[in-house]
Amino acid sequence: LLLSFSKCNIETCTSESSCSKANKNKYSKEINEWTSYIINEIKVATTQYKPCSSDNCSCHSQVIINDLAPFQSGINKDMVDKAINKGTKYQIIDGKLYRQKECHFPARCAGIEHYLKLLSPKLPNMELSINTRDWPQVNRQWGHKNIPVFSFSKTKDYDDIMYPAWSFWEGGPAISLYPTGIGRWDQHRISITKAADKVPWEEKKTQAFFRGSRTSEERDALILLSRSHPDLVDAKYTKNQAWKSDADTLYAEPAKEVSFEDHCKYKYLFNYRGVSASFRFKHLFLCKSLIFHVGNDWLEFFYPSLKPWIHYVPINPKATQEEILHYVNYFKDNDDLAQSIANQGFQQIWDNLRDKDVKCYWKKLLKQYAKLVQYDVVKSGDVIRV
Ligand code: UDP
Repeated sequence: LLLSFSKCNIETCTSESSCSKANKNKYSKEINEWTSYIINEIKVATTQYKPCSSDNCSCHSQVIINDLAPFQSGINKDMVDKAINKGTKYQIIDGKLYRQKECHFPARCAGIEHYLKLLSPKLPNMELSINTRDWPQVNRQWGHKNIPVFSFSKTKDYDDIMYPAWSFWEGGPAISLYPTGIGRWDQHRISITKAADKVPWEEKKTQAFFRGSRTSEERDALILLSRSHPDLVDAKYTKNQAWKSDADTLYAEPAKEVSFEDHCKYKYLFNYRGVSASFRFKHLFLCKSLIFHVGNDWLEFFYPSLKPWIHYVPINPKATQEEILHYVNYFKDNDDLAQSIANQGFQQIWDNLRDKDVKCYWKKLLKQYAKLVQYDVVKSGDVIRV
């Protein structure tokens, strides 16, 4: 989808003195092509866009339908037993929540249990396997059998059933600014929007911004672009627990971490996948800045409710530094458009990713799942009350 540009444009044609007339013409022709490409993408997206209803977490309903589609002929005990080998076993019996004793990531289990405990009094009996690892488990391409494993993130190659990540409540990555781990989305919603209101669009820095560790090399192009164009891009690698040397921060000193609230000072915010989906995505929208979302493979349950060109600018993960620069410059030149996509993105998350939508999603998902279960669930001897 991305148009390609010759290297000379970025290095020579942006500098008036060294740009030959021929190159200038070529550059403006390519800029025109670039501009019409973006205009066309926005036009198509706008024509096709149908806003969803904020009632009853409807914006996310199709995800439940899609994720449960492979199980429409029913879920039997053998399938669930196999799934439990890939995750943590939970049971809901007579409105009470139980879990196998061991939990690989206790804070992640606690984040999940916050929602399950609230909902279990109103849910039918069921047992389920919840995977608390970063990675999904059931890969169709690799010939994995169809078993119901709940995971927070996946690509279309996986049959895992997506659930709202633990970090909506607790158990997210612990960084210096959030030493007990990123969580409490309900509180972040308030504090980040307050910070956003303090820096209206006109006062934001006209810069693309990113802070995070090198959990995926897809982030490298922006970091390098920041080094050659610090006026337009401020993107730096921070340290994570796996950091061993400067090689892990692309041969630069690790940068200081920046709070979600301070991201709101910038007009353009970049989101990347990490090991799987990165938790930062939903927070970025609250800044009312323009989100550049790189890559569309890794999903969380709410990603499909966000539409490219309506709520964010989609970027190919293979985009070169030059191509990224073109995108940023395009939106710098089209400030009203940038602001309107930024506002639409904010509104979509604000209206449809409330804590009550997270609860609603869990409830709908588990009710639909329980309808597919074909055996009587009996309380196991190896579970504890949560
Ligand atoms: N983070 C942050 N400020 C920073 C660096 C990271 O708020 O300066 C947050 C980031 O938004 C994400 C988490 O810390 O939710 C972990 O970020 P990292 O880039 O290390 O890994 P990711 O989870 O994105 O792969």
